[in-house]
Formats: sequence, structure tokens, C-alpha cells
Amino acid sequence: MISLQNICPRCLIEASGADFDLTEYMDRIDPELRTPDDLYAERLKICQECERLNAGLCRGCGCFVELRALTAANSCPYEKW
Ligand code: SF4
Repeated sequence: MISLQNICPRCLIEASGADFDLTEYMDRIDPELRTPDDLYAERLKICQECERLNAGLCRGCGCFVELRALTAANSCPYEKW
């Protein structure tokens, strides 16, 4: 379980040091459905600067942004990407 205490609200999960690994879930996403690497990085950069990011979670939709951004067809619920 992720503790939200003392975690920078602008950090993604790895940067926050939270003891949670999304790799297993991310590996299950079909390669054909994945966001291209450059666009994925761009999406996460926007999330890192967003006031709704908290410990890797989007407070707007409740998703782990690293998972949401990895599927090409997904979008930001606030149309930032
Ligand atoms: S998905 Fe959108 S609203 Fe949520 S943290 Fe990222 S940029 Fe912000």
C-alpha cells in the first residue's frame, strides 16, 4: 500500500520512493496499443508539472498516470495531453 505521507505531489511513483511496482501491469499492455516512447515521455512530463499529480496518481481520474499514458488511445481527463 502506498503511503501518501511525505511524498512530493509532483513526483511519479519511482521518484517518490513509494514501494509499488507497476512494471507487471505495464508489461501486460499489448505492444500494438502502446504509446510511442517519445509521446509517452511527453505525456509524463506534462503530468509531472500538473497540480493534480500525487504520488503517481492523478487526482482528476484516480489512475496511475504511468499506466494511463502508456496506452495510445487514452487521454488526460483535463485535456492536457
Ligand atoms: S492525467 Fe492530466 S490531470 Fe491527471 S495528472 Fe496527468 S496531466 Fe494532470
